[in-house]
This record gives sequence, C-alpha cells and structure tokens, in this order.
Amino acid sequence: MKVPNVECPNCLKQLPLTEVLTAQSNQNVIFTCPDCRFILRNIRTSKG
Ligand SMILES: [Zn+2]
Repeated sequence: MKVPNVECPNCLKQLPLTEVLTAQSNQNVIFTCPDCRFILRNIRTSKG
C-alpha cells in the first residue's frame, strides 16, 4: 500500500503522510515533523 508523501513546511523534508499526520476525533489533523519537531495544528483536509 503506497502512502503519499507530505512536505514539511519548515524543513521541506518529504515524509510519508502516515508518519506526520495525526487525525483527531474532532476531524482536525495535526502535522508533526519527526525531523525538525515542527507542529502544525488544525490542518483542513482537502475534502470538499
Ligand atoms: Zn520538518
């Protein structure tokens, strides 16, 4: 199963989406870069 990569907006590293995105119960998504520790909250998914 292929996972799309996501580019960290801080260090520009390409990382598998499953490693950097955490879905919250309230449908928000948190991006966490394991490389530079950059955290971005409340990402909107591209649905709709
Ligand atoms: Zn990063």
